[in-house]
Amino acid sequence: MFEFSEEDKMLRNQVRAFAKKEVAPNAKQHSRATEVPRDLWKKIADLGYTGMGIPEKYGGQDATWISRGVVIEELSYANINIGGLTHHIQNMAWMTAQGPEETAAEWVPHFVSTDKICSAAISEPDCGSDVAAIKTRAVRDGDYYIITGEKTSVSRGTHADACLVLAKTDPDAGIRGLTQFLVPLDLPGLEISALHDMGSVPVGRALINFDNVKIPARNRISAEGQAFSASFAAGVDKGRALTGLAVLAAAQASVDEVIAFSKERMAFGRPIAKYEGVSFKLAEAATYITAARWLCYYTLWLGDQDLPSFKEGSMCKWWCPELATSILHDCMILYGHVGYTDELPIEQRLRDAIGYEYTDGTVQINKLNVARQLIGKEALPYR
Ligand SMILES: Cc1cc2nc3c(=O)[nH]c(=O)nc-3n(C[C@H](O)[C@H](O)[C@H](O)COP(=O)(O)OP(=O)(O)OC[C@H]3O[C@@H](n4cnc5c(N)ncnc54)[C@H](O)[C@@H]3O)c2cc1C
Repeated sequence: MFEFSEEDKMLRNQVRAFAKKEVAPNAKQHSRATEVPRDLWKKIADLGYTGMGIPEKYGGQDATWISRGVVIEELSYANINIGGLTHHIQNMAWMTAQGPEETAAEWVPHFVSTDKICSAAISEPDCGSDVAAIKTRAVRDGDYYIITGEKTSVSRGTHADACLVLAKTDPDAGIRGLTQFLVPLDLPGLEISALHDMGSVPVGRALINFDNVKIPARNRISAEGQAFSASFAAGVDKGRALTGLAVLAAAQASVDEVIAFSKERMAFGRPIAKYEGVSFKLAEAATYITAARWLCYYTLWLGDQDLPSFKEGSMCKWWCPELATSILHDCMILYGHVGYTDELPIEQRLRDAIGYEYTDGTVQINKLNVARQLIGKEALPYR
């Protein structure tokens, strides 16, 4: 039978206490600002949460995937933007740590301590899901690469110091022609403009244009043509389970709030909790969240056992954001009009959660991943 370890139970208590004191009270203000205050990041980094799974020599520490799930879940319950971004920081640090020692040593400790920010640029204005169709080129020029192209939807792009850029080194090799580079964002030839999304505002999403940007060859993070397998090595499947826990935690926070509200709010002379139209919605939400949450932890457990988890990670990634969004919508209705206003955190959580239906593969792309695992290549429409 699955049970959290004593260490993870203690970790949960520690993160919960921290999040309740430092994150939740400012969730509204931080979710509307263009950037989360750096001093809050410093506190999160000092507790070691941003360095989980990152080599010690770069300021991180060993951590199981389950422990990472506990941290992301508890931070997201207080503010999904903080939980989601903590996972993003861990991810960027891990990817960069796979690069040449000199480059990793120069950047990773700063990403873990949060005094520098890294983003990832994969999507382009003409393609997102079809990664092999990207047009951004990286051409070797002696000890340098020259990068040219346009990237969009880059999370943290408006305030990042560096960016992990996916570019083609061999335009004829499809997915095997993709390579990843770390590009400092203060170089000549770069133009960054902000995008204005309906949610996750402090994440600061951007469009970045690269016009003959020259970077040292040692900033090549993956081997040439190996960017795709590098992202799998980074644990993209486990990352999808962490995303699942983040959105479910945001939904759970709203369910907990509606439970309290339903006992107080009167309609037709009774608390609305007495009406099955209300109580059954809450019962359904609790059931779905429980099932989806265990799918996420099961996926992380598979990761900790070094067992394949691609199918399960994709299941988490298509289901949890869609489920969380639908539960948040229900919670909004159960609150009556006040749920639709910015007096309560539901509308904010709903806007933020919708964004997770796109990241790391859309709902459809992750269903395709699952279908491919179930049925085989016959399930792929493009083969
Ligand atoms: C909140 C948020 C954060 C993001 N952060 C980043 C980031 O940090 N870095 C980055 O590079 N990108 C980021 N993205 C972009 C994201 O990765 C893309 O939006 C996503 O991959 C989809 O690509 P697209 O928008 O180009 O849509 P398209 O790929 O053009 O797809 C359009 C629609 O068609 C569907 N579709 C496409 N192909 C198929 C198929 N074979 N079968 C069924 N349906 C299909 C898609 O699911 C989608 O609904 C972010 C997006 C959001 C909303």
